[in-house]
Formats: sequence, structure tokens, C-alpha cells
Amino acid sequence: MSDVLDLTCDLIARASVTPDDAGCQATIAARLQRAGFACESLRYGQVDNLWATHGSGAPVLVLLGHTDVVPSGPREAWSSDPFAPEVREGMLYGRGAADMKGSVAAFVVAAERFTAAHPDHPGTLAVLLTSDEEGDAIEGVRKVAATFRERGQRIDWCITGEPSSTAKLGDLLRVGRRGSLSATLTVKGVQGHVAYPHKARNPIHQVAPALAELAARAWDDGYESFPPTSLQVSNIHAGTGANNVIPGELQVLFNLRYNPHWDAPRLEAEIAALLDRHGLDYDLRWHRSGEPFYTPEGRLRAVAREVLGEFAGAPPEESTGGGTSDARFIAPLGAQCIEVGPVNASIHQVDEHVSVADLEALPELYRRLVERLLLD
Ligand SMILES: [Zn+2]
Repeated sequence: MSDVLDLTCDLIARASVTPDDAGCQATIAARLQRAGFACESLRYGQVDNLWATHGSGAPVLVLLGHTDVVPSGPREAWSSDPFAPEVREGMLYGRGAADMKGSVAAFVVAAERFTAAHPDHPGTLAVLLTSDEEGDAIEGVRKVAATFRERGQRIDWCITGEPSSTAKLGDLLRVGRRGSLSATLTVKGVQGHVAYPHKARNPIHQVAPALAELAARAWDDGYESFPPTSLQVSNIHAGTGANNVIPGELQVLFNLRYNPHWDAPRLEAEIAALLDRHGLDYDLRWHRSGEPFYTPEGRLRAVAREVLGEFAGAPPEESTGGGTSDARFIAPLGAQCIEVGPVNASIHQVDEHVSVADLEALPELYRRLVERLLLD
């Protein structure tokens, strides 16, 4: 069994369902320490974070990952135990195989190989891991970034191991992510009998034109390689279940995925103004999941494009699609951020898997990125 496969299996066997790290980071820290890394554990609340550094000064290159996984769902739905890694027909199965214990194991092996070959390399190679990426993401990298800000810790480049590839390893380079903003809108009316509408105020009728305007609005035409900003209504609740009662209240949930044309405060103000224009009596609560980030053309993108091209046989697609990732917390520190990882087809699903061949190529891919960035 190869080193990276061995370590990935060891990590999968630890059922680190978010935010429980289940000993993954201690295992990794022990290995990195043997390779000469200084390891610091930053525990906030229930969340373990590991900050491991080798070398000193600028430039600072961070390999960013998470040890937590999403729940497996019912065991019977899986072909094999989600926390007992198993190789079948060239694929390694288990929760976290692709998202992202394979990448984390590959970081470790790449870091070991790089520091063994270049013990006195210029700058700093760092590994940053959290056990709260899949959950609330409050006491994970968000908090670590706040600590870094206080300490004045600079970061030049950050490579996140999120599974970015679509069909083959290295075919996609993620260079940004949209922001995400969620809202809970409660519209107040007056409950009454449908036969006496003048004695009631129907919140469904009140909100309908406002929702139509929100849903139809074109927010922008996109930004660089970002798609246009979009608002989606995900839930509407109102009514008592009886067909002769005008409800007294209505609740709407919606979410915006937005490009760098916008930030959360401006979107919030824009939407509140629209609701005010419609004369609604409402309460609006926001949850800001993360601002967008974007890494424009520069050293990191150029190096990554070349290295990924060598692995995939063609230059990668450079994309800003997908959900959010912890890079959203590191980018505001002034770091250029990219995401490079294995094929993402099975993540968060039953029978999550990663190709063993890809897994075994991954440490070499990360090592080459580190070498080009720190030594050239
Ligand atoms: Zn992930």
C-alpha cells in the first residue's frame, strides 16, 4: 500500500463527523513534526484547528484543508461501511475519500517529500487544517483568520484541497467562489375569515408583487469569469391548513449567490429598500455565509495552470463555480487563493470514492506546486 493511500485510509477510519476531528489532526501533527514542522493546535469551542509551519519569513504558502466530513446517512445505503475504507476496482470508498481526506493525506506526503529534499528552502510552507468546514464554519478557519489578523500573520498564497476536478485530475482550477447570503423574511398580516377580507390583511397577497420583483430582477451581468448574481427563493410558509382562513403571517427563505460586483451590506440594503417600497410590515434576518473571493491572473494562477496542465494533459478550465469554501476567510488577509483537488463527482453522496491512481498522483501534484512557488 502506498504512503498516501495508507494515510487516507487511516483518516477515513476515524469517524470525524463535523465538527469532531476524532484524532485526525494529532496523527497528522505527529508526522509533520517528524518532518521538522512546528505545530500549533488552535482549539476554539468544539473545533480543532492545526497550524503547522516549516521555514520562516516570506513568501508564505499555505496548504488549506479540513478533517471533518458530512454525516454518512444510513449505513444500509452504502455498499461498504462508510468508516471502514475499502478499495474496489481501483476506487477507494469511504466518507471523506474525496472531500477531503485524500487531499489532506496528499498535503502531508507532499510536505514530507518537499522538506526532505529542500530542508533549507526559502520562505514558509504551512499546513492549516480545521474540523469545522462542513458544519457551521464559525470556530474553524473564520476564527483562525481572525487570530492571524491580530498576529499580523501574512499569507501570500493559499492552495485549498477541495475536490475541484470534474472528469480527470487537474482538469479544473478554481480561482474564486461566489458569496452566499441567506435571508429569513417574515411578513406580518392580520388573520381573518376569507369571507370578510376587509377585516383582515393577507400577507400572501402583500408579499406576492415584492417576490415577483425579487425573482425577476437582473442583479448584474456577471463579473470576470463569474456568472451573474442570482437570488433563489427556497421556502414559503403560510396558512393554517384551512381554506377559509386568511393567515396572519408568512415566512419566506431565500438565498443569494453573488459575484464581486456586490457585498453583503449592499445587497441587504437593496432588498430592504425594495420591501419598503412595497409597503410591507416585515421582519428580515440575514445570515452572511461568506463574501466572494477572486484571484486574478498572477503568479499563483500561472504556476497552477502549468502544473495542472502537465497532469491533465491540457490546460485546466479556470472556474469560479460551486458553493463556498474556507478560502473565503483566507483571501481577505491579502492572499491569492486557488482550489485544487480530486474529482468531485461523489462528494457528500453515499459510496463516496476517489480513484486510487488520482490519489497516488496527488502528492506529486502538490509537491510540484510547492516547489515551483517556493524555489523558482
Ligand atoms: Zn470539503
